[in-house]
Amino acid sequence: MKKKINRQFTLITVFSIIITTLVMAVIFYSRLKTQVFSDLDIISSLLIRQDGNIAESLTDHNDMGVRITLVEENGGVLYDSLMDADSMENHFGRPEIKAAFEKGYGQEIRTSDTLSKNVFYYAVRMEDGKVLRVGKEYASVLSVMISAFPAMLGTVFLLIIICMAAAHYLAAAIIEPIDSMARDLNHIEESEIYEELVPFARKIRSQHEEILSAANMRRDFTANVSHELKTPLAAISGYAELIETGVAKEKDVKHFSTEIRRSTERLLNLINDILKLSKLDAGYNNEMMEMTDLSAVAGHTVEMVSVSADKMGVSLFFQGCEAAEIRMGKELAEEVTYNLIENAIRYNKKGGKVFVSVSEKDNGILFKVSDTGIGIGAEHQERIFERFYRVDKSRSKELGGTGLGLAIVKHICDLTEGKIEIESDLEKGTTVAVFWNGGH
Ligand code: ADP
Repeated sequence: MKKKINRQFTLITVFSIIITTLVMAVIFYSRLKTQVFSDLDIISSLLIRQDGNIAESLTDHNDMGVRITLVEENGGVLYDSLMDADSMENHFGRPEIKAAFEKGYGQEIRTSDTLSKNVFYYAVRMEDGKVLRVGKEYASVLSVMISAFPAMLGTVFLLIIICMAAAHYLAAAIIEPIDSMARDLNHIEESEIYEELVPFARKIRSQHEEILSAANMRRDFTANVSHELKTPLAAISGYAELIETGVAKEKDVKHFSTEIRRSTERLLNLINDILKLSKLDAGYNNEMMEMTDLSAVAGHTVEMVSVSADKMGVSLFFQGCEAAEIRMGKELAEEVTYNLIENAIRYNKKGGKVFVSVSEKDNGILFKVSDTGIGIGAEHQERIFERFYRVDKSRSKELGGTGLGLAIVKHICDLTEGKIEIESDLEKGTTVAVFWNGGH
């Protein structure tokens, strides 16, 4: 950035100097032209007598620093203050003389052979028909510019050095707030950074925080996974060792085998849930975006879990609706309905009830699961969507829970823009509702 500012500054300086010099040269030259012709006009008037004729003797005026030429009507030169008139060619064709014969006066600038001088000619037709021409020599613009070139080059060089120094300090001053922002993203409000950069800095900071929290979450998740895997694996290994070494008595073998099977099931459930979460972490895929009839999926889930509800002594009630299409893919819809209904059965009481409904509401679809179960204390309600968070760990494990069900539901709702709400009273029951706006 500094290099770019330096380069741009230098370029602008050189460009400005060149343009200024050229414009000034053009302005000065045009002023000079006007001035010279007006001087020549005055001089020619002085040379012509009041009655319009030529002065008695032109040679009297040789000290005026101008060239004086007198041309007769046929173009022949009668007198010239610089050269012998007889040796001069016919001047009728000279533009200033021609113009003077035609319209009374004429002017012309001619460049000398060396290009270093310009001769300004002014010609006037007198009353007797002859033409008086006065001429004066000036340095040409080109020669003025060439002679001024070393001074100009020196100025350009000096200005470039000044500009480079200014650009250096300016670039440092411009960049300093950005540097300080990069050094300490957490205090951008206090540091004096550019107003325009504040949204950008905030975005970077929030992304930075997101990355940190995602990294923390991953670290906690890995630690939790290892811990959750260790317990059933240790149980499997322990029971298997007892059987292997013959320590287990004949009558215990069946019990130990059942424990091994249950621990294996827990491991399988856990691995399945972890795989689901990692698939969701990867984001959308086309399958997830398919339209699904949520009412049909919820009805099917209710049928599927009715056996386990019966076992728990819980009654299930379902009310669906027509055209409950939402964009979330069948697999995800099954995941949401299954986890919420299963929890309502799992954390219920004997003889309890579970009400499942899918309805159209406010131009959207509402899925609701209410139970008359144990309820969730207010202090836990915020946290139950965290991975591996359980209110009663042993009860969850006993009932085959992994602590990941609601985390999966929340993740799916975030992906499909579903709004999830929970209402719960201890010992009275829980209602979990998810709303998808516009049927998605
Ligand atoms: P789990 O596999 O343990 O059920 P979840 O993520 O599904 O894991 O739920 C997290 C915790 O939230 C559960 O362990 C339980 O303590 C609590 N919970 C979830 N749903 C209900 C409910 N309907 N009634 C009471 N507690 C619930």
